[in-house]
Order: sequence, then structure tokens, then C-alpha cells
Amino acid sequence: MTDRIYLYDTTLRDGAQTQGVDFSVGDKVAIARQLDSLGIDTIEGGWPGANPTDDAFFGDPPKLAHACLAAFGMTRRAGRSAENDPGLAAVVKSGAGAVCLVGKTWDYHVRAALGVEPDENQRMIGESIACAARTVPEALFDAEHFFDGFKADPAYALGCLEAALTAGARWIVLCDTNGGVLPHEVEAIVAKVVERIPGDRLGIHCHNDTGNAVANSLAAVRAGVRQVQGSVNGLGERCGNADLVTLIPTLALKLGYRTGVEGDRLQRLTKVSRVIDELLNRAPNRHAPYVGASAFAHKGGLHASAVAKDPRTYEHVDPTLVGNDRNIVVSDQSGRANVIARVRDLGQDVGPDDPALARLIEAIKEREFSGYTYDGAEASLELLARRAWGSVPEYFEVEGFRVSVERRHNALVRL
Ligand SMILES: [Zn+2]
Repeated sequence: MTDRIYLYDTTLRDGAQTQGVDFSVGDKVAIARQLDSLGIDTIEGGWPGANPTDDAFFGDPPKLAHACLAAFGMTRRAGRSAENDPGLAAVVKSGAGAVCLVGKTWDYHVRAALGVEPDENQRMIGESIACAARTVPEALFDAEHFFDGFKADPAYALGCLEAALTAGARWIVLCDTNGGVLPHEVEAIVAKVVERIPGDRLGIHCHNDTGNAVANSLAAVRAGVRQVQGSVNGLGERCGNADLVTLIPTLALKLGYRTGVEGDRLQRLTKVSRVIDELLNRAPNRHAPYVGASAFAHKGGLHASAVAKDPRTYEHVDPTLVGNDRNIVVSDQSGRANVIARVRDLGQDVGPDDPALARLIEAIKEREFSGYTYDGAEASLELLARRAWGSVPEYFEVEGFRVSVERRHNALVRL
């Protein structure tokens, strides 16, 4: 089995369902370029025919150096042929190099939501995928509600996957659409699926409704799937999608898998995560794994002094591998070691008995007591430190001043 994991980004489609996110065409193009520079294999651009933004995006798609652009859509409607379905045609003929079609695999959903017979649903999957596979280089089948469907009726759910596979789908993507499945269930169910369909034809698409989207994706990979779908910063409807920004370094640095995001590209990860937040006017999550501003921040005095000796004492990976920085936080909670580390970062030589160090620590304590806070105010701390060492020039000098006081009588205000 190959150790190469293919990354499929759904930020521009699932991410568009995030509350508070409204992509313009320009946003989509800018995000696609960022994802391309990172080394993502496939970028899902949206749903051609579903809205004017996605039509405009596919009408003039960005030129990408590495990534393949995918169009998303759904299987043909019941009661008409794949060739005679305008919705399907808009997706298949969008010009994208890959087409991902979602279809139902949960018998309950087929009857309750779709209102068609289970056999007809499987024909809809097979004929639609066959139509896509004839027209574009790569057809994918998004097996909606697969895990719920498998629990309800494994034979029917697997039959839906096989209909897509025999019709020519390159990837069969197992979706936890409602986000309610747990890692041990994913591992057990995917193990059953790979008995019928090889793992290098399977993908995983998880939602984060139990906070397990990343864990579920990793469980699926361990069980054999070789395509992972997710979004940047976990954007997505409700609780979001599996966060690719967490998954990518975990796959590479912890589990030894290869992806398109390696070496120099992996070092772009923090930047890409923050640029996309910036584009969407969202505050970056300080506590995001790997890329958050606090991911390698050490505030406790004990931690900072150990990290100064060897970073491995309190860091699970080297922050530079993902383009992040170590941050020694200084506050009245932190110890002498934090202050020494920060002062050295500023290029100032300092020993433990330096009287300027004692002055600085005293100043921090006094000011924090009176309401200032230096945790997160790096520039203010730098000024305070430089003043302690006398290296801030006096930019202004008061040579003299004049005070003028005046009082006037204004009749208009006498009511
Ligand atoms: Zn989804």
C-alpha cells in the first residue's frame, strides 16, 4: 500500500457554508492560489450552476501550478437520464479537471429525503458517475451519510459504493455528513470497506460535530484510505470540517505519510492559515494546533527555563517545520528565565545578576499590578526592556512650556 496521501481541499465549497463567511469570486481565486502554493492536490472550487459566484469562478478559473480544480455537484435527478439533466451537465462541462458528485448511500435518506426507490438511487449513482468519467479526467463519488448508512444497512451502502466504482469513479469518498461518528467506528467500518474496495481508491470526508473530524480522518487513513478531504482552519457548516492545517503536519511529522505539502511547503503552513483568515476577516485562532500564535508559547517560568535548555522538553515538534515561531511570554506570572529569554531575543546580552534585569522585572510587576498586561504586548515589553538597559534615546526634551487658561461668558447656553 502506498504511503502517499492525496489532499483534497473543500474550503471553497464546504467552507462557504460557514456562518459569517461570504466568498467573493476574488476571495475564491486568492484562496485557490494559496492552496496551490501549499501543495494541495485537488481544490474543490464550488458548484457550477448553483450560484453566480461559482459560475463566475469556473467561467474564468485561476491558473494553478500544481493543483487540479474540482467541480462539485450531485447525481442526476430521478426519472431522467444523466445526459438529459441540466444540473449535472453544468457540473460535468464546467471545464474543471475533476468532478465530484454527491449521492445518497443511507437507505433511510433515499426514501425519506429523496423519495425514490433504493434501486433507482443506485442507478442514479452509476449513470451519473459514468457520465462524469466519460467527460473529465477524474470522477469522484461523495458517499453522503456513508457511516450512518453502513450502520443501518451495510449491504445497501456498500452496493452504492460499488455502483460508483464500476461506473469509473477514481475516488470513492466516505462522508460523515452529520459529523456524529466516532474514531473507533470509522476504523472498524473502513476496515470492512477495504475488504471490497482498495484503500487507494477511497477517500474520507469528516465533519467536526463531536470534535473528532481530525481524529476520524486519521482513523480512516490508518484503516487504508488514501485521500483526505478537509478545509483550511476547519471552515465549514455547523462545527466545521476536518481541519487540513492540523491534518497535514500530523500525517507528515507524526505518521510518516507523504503528501504534496512537504519541506519548504510545509513551512508555508502557518502563513497560508493566517492569510486565509485575513482574507475572510476572521481573527486567527491563537490556540490552533501547530499554527496558532500560542501553539509554541511558553508562559510558565518552569517551562520557559526548560525550553531554553532544550525545546523538546515542552514542544512536540520543532515550530519552524510548520513555519511557526517559539514565543516566550512575559508577565508577572512568568519567571526570571522568561524575561531573560525575551531580552536575549532582542539582542541584549543579559546575565542573571544584571541590575537592569532586576529593574525590568520590578517594572513589569509594578505595571501589571496597576493594570497593564505584557502577555501579548510584545512591542510594549520591548520598550520597557530597552529603557531598563538605557538603550531608548530621549526623542523629546521639554525645554519649557506656557499654560494658558481662559473663561468666556456665553449667553446662548443660559437656558
Ligand atoms: Zn461536507
